[in-house]
Amino acid sequence: MSPEEFREHGKRVVDWIADYLAGIERHPVRATVGPGEVRAAFPDEPPEQGRPFEQLLGELDRSVMPGITHWQHPRFLAYFPANASGPAVLGDLLSAGLGVQGMLWETSPACTELETVVVDWLAGLLGLPDQWRTDARGGGVIQDSASSAVLVALVAALHRAFGERGNRATGTLYVSEQTHSSVAKAARIAGVPPGNVRVVEQDPRTLAMCPEHLGTLLAADHAAGRVPVLVCATIGTTSTAAIDPVRAIGQVCREYRAWLHVDAAYAGVAAVCEELRWINDGVEYADSYVTDPHKWLLTNFDCSVLWVADRQPLVDALSILPEYLRNAATESGEVIDYRDWQVPLGRRFRALKLWAVLGWYGAEGLREHIRTGVALAAEFAELARADGNFAADEDPRLGLVCFRPLWPGYTAEQADRATGALLDRLNDSGVLYLSHTRVAGRMVLRAAIGAPATRSEHVHHAWHRIAAEYRDMRQG
Ligand SMILES: *Cc1c(COP(=O)(O)O)cnc(C)c1O
Repeated sequence: MSPEEFREHGKRVVDWIADYLAGIERHPVRATVGPGEVRAAFPDEPPEQGRPFEQLLGELDRSVMPGITHWQHPRFLAYFPANASGPAVLGDLLSAGLGVQGMLWETSPACTELETVVVDWLAGLLGLPDQWRTDARGGGVIQDSASSAVLVALVAALHRAFGERGNRATGTLYVSEQTHSSVAKAARIAGVPPGNVRVVEQDPRTLAMCPEHLGTLLAADHAAGRVPVLVCATIGTTSTAAIDPVRAIGQVCREYRAWLHVDAAYAGVAAVCEELRWINDGVEYADSYVTDPHKWLLTNFDCSVLWVADRQPLVDALSILPEYLRNAATESGEVIDYRDWQVPLGRRFRALKLWAVLGWYGAEGLREHIRTGVALAAEFAELARADGNFAADEDPRLGLVCFRPLWPGYTAEQADRATGALLDRLNDSGVLYLSHTRVAGRMVLRAAIGAPATRSEHVHHAWHRIAAEYRDMRQG
């Protein structure tokens, strides 16, 4: 494809995306295809001869689009948001166009240095500790996901605790039942035996980790000659956006020199708003902290920012320098090679999309986006509470509302089954998309609000559908 051909087709693709976003409400929110349907629309072999790009776009419309779930739909309320935005898409396009592989500073200095700029900017915007800035002892790095972030944090923590040769089989990890599954996965990948992962009790009401019990577990392990390696605290759990008491947890970690990783994948970006900074209370105790601009901060997947309070253990743990990567810049010690901060060697120029987002919206635009999500979640919760047939959080946590239909006369088990059936009816309707979780053993529905296109009218529309399906079920 020549640059001239690219210009022509590229314009068409940008138009295609703009038309898609302008008309997104025409689609059912969740894909309607069954398993194998998309695959069956494609031949077994790739074409022998190349075809015009128009034909490819036609195939996209016919065979791919029916299998798309519309995450940018204003009534997509499932899981957590996966924001995309114009500036982020354009930033990503520029990254693709440059085709840079930024494994070393040497292989494209701007790829490294712009990343340093944006992660430091973001640390400032979120009010994170000064020590985490690159010009201090810490630093930030863009990872593909919070899952990779906790894996490298764990590897750094293991390295800090044991060095190259210590007996890692004695290392223990601490999570709660609410901790994201990525921590257990990281433990598996890093070779921490499952029996060394401790589950700390949680407050039954708030679902927050109980620091007193954490202290008891750490003391017992320490006394038994085991090495408490890492504690994961969560700010905004995946299930209900519960917030662990990071300060109290951090004090326990200090006592036993355990690494404190704070997982704020979803909620952390809310700290762009001064009035929401309370969520980060105590993060100065953290050794590492992750939040995902690719969830709620207008930056399309993938863009997860990990900060460390001290970059040395991370770099020590992950740096291996084979002859073919040797270069004068690395040896001078004056540059950062982010390959030493992550699992893969190669790196995309992800900083461009985050830079485009920060530049286009400015701090004020980002705050307004978060405030809109929080306000709409409060509106949704209010609608749920005003309807006598539902129980909902008094105070939704940030953009997430957990709520439950009431089924008078049903046993707990019957009620959970009815709630599940209601969820299926709603998601099959195509009008909205919700997800669910279990709290204290009971089925609960989740509405996560934060798509850039979601407005009050969408929240009302979604709620009316929920109330109507519920009434139908009760009458039917
Ligand atoms: C979404 C989420 C993750 C996983 O995020 P990825 O970036 O998709 O790996 C981890 N922890 C929490 C609390 C989350 O909400």
